[in-house]
Formats: sequence, structure tokens, C-alpha cells
Amino acid sequence: MSTQIPAGSIAANLEGVRVRLRKAALVANRKELDVKLIAVSKTHGAETVNEAIEAGQTIFGENRVQEAAAKFPAITAGKPSIELHLIGPLQSNKVRDAVALFDVIHTLDRDSLADALAREMKKSQRKPRLLVQVNTGEEPQKAGIAPQDTPAFLERCRDHWGLMIDGLMCIPPVEDEPALHFALLLKLARDAGVKELSMGMSGDFETAIAFGATYVRVGSAIFGERAPTVSGAIPE
Ligand SMILES: *Cc1c(COP(=O)(O)O)cnc(C)c1O
Repeated sequence: MSTQIPAGSIAANLEGVRVRLRKAALVANRKELDVKLIAVSKTHGAETVNEAIEAGQTIFGENRVQEAAAKFPAITAGKPSIELHLIGPLQSNKVRDAVALFDVIHTLDRDSLADALAREMKKSQRKPRLLVQVNTGEEPQKAGIAPQDTPAFLERCRDHWGLMIDGLMCIPPVEDEPALHFALLLKLARDAGVKELSMGMSGDFETAIAFGATYVRVGSAIFGERAPTVSGAIPE
């Protein structure tokens, strides 16, 4: 590239992440384009998101419906190529807003949510793509379908609610070797015949790519460390 990118800027961080992604795809003998980078912009303001857009980033991830609803409509107005993904838990009372706002929802994790999504999608005629969150570590405090229940849940989504499921998502336990969880998610996706695998964050996305990730969710490596918050299970 001919233009100077200041070190530590979002453009430079993004380029660094893209280089890592490209290398990991090469090592895994996969096509770079088969791994889509989600820039996780939670807690960061519109100005920061716009910097990433100017640096060529098109896919963004948010973990809270309300935060995304307050921030994104102004950012994406007149920019149809920007894609917004929900990567955090979805409460049933936010389903309408989520269906209106997001292009992809990664966190379908229970029957009641499948039911609410199916109704809202029918009513609004909007069809965000859906991924099912799997609790690969079977952690009691974490959302997601248990691995052994995943095939039956996918079947119910399709047969009972008529929902097309594009893939699976997981957040491995912080203290575990992530590769074990990525391998499990890959196996579940293959067995079920779903295509997308949402796995891998700033610290482990190369490993996720080696295990077939099609979406990696990268926050701090692009936007820097987030201010600490008081909330629980998901590393904010
Ligand atoms: C915040 C978050 C990420 C990004 O994490 P980093 O370690 O900052 O890359 C990825 N996935 C989910 C579900 C998140 O909540």
C-alpha cells in the first residue's frame, strides 16, 4: 500500500488482523475469502466504527441489541454493503428490534427464541440468517444448546418452525484449549450439514481457521482493549 497508515491506528490494526487471517488460511490450505472477518465493535462509538469502514471493513458484530440499535442505523444509512451481526444473547422481548436491525443472528439458543424469531420473521418479512449457539464446554452459566442436543434442536428449527439454519457458533470456556471446542463444533456442523462456523476471537482465531471457521469475531485486536465492565460470562 502506498499511503502511510499510522501505527496503532484502527486501519493498521485491521491490516495486521487481515495478514494473520490470510496466513492462517494459507497454512490451513483454505481460501482467504472463505473466512469472513467480523469486527466486534461493542462498547466503541460510531466514530471508531466509521474509521474501520474507511479502512475497508464491512462486517460488524455487536453483542447488545440496544447498543447496536442506538449506534448503527446512523452509521449504515446509505451504506448497503455494511453487514451487522448479533453475537450476544437475545432476549425474547428484543426479537422485534433484532430482526429489524441485524443481517445475521449468531445466538439462537432455545426453543422459545426459535418460536419468537419464526413469528417475527413471518410478520416483518425480514429474514436475518441464523446460527445456533452451542455450549461446547457445557458451562452452566453460558448460553447455548448442549452438544448432544444440537442435532435434535436443528431438526426442530427446520421441521417445527420452518427456520433455515446456516451454521453454528461457540464461545469456548476461557480456561480450556480452544482447539477442542472448535473441533467439536466442526464435527457437529458437518454431521448436520450446515455450512457456517462462527468461532475464534482475537486470541485464537488462527486456530479456529485451522478447524474450519467461516466467521471469526475479532474485537480487541482491531479496536484495542475495551474498558472493563461489571457484566459476567462473556469477556467484554
Ligand atoms: C466480545 C466478543 C468477541 C470479541 O472478543 P475479542 O477477544 O475482543 O476479540 C467475540 N465473540 C463474542 C461473542 C464476544 O462477545
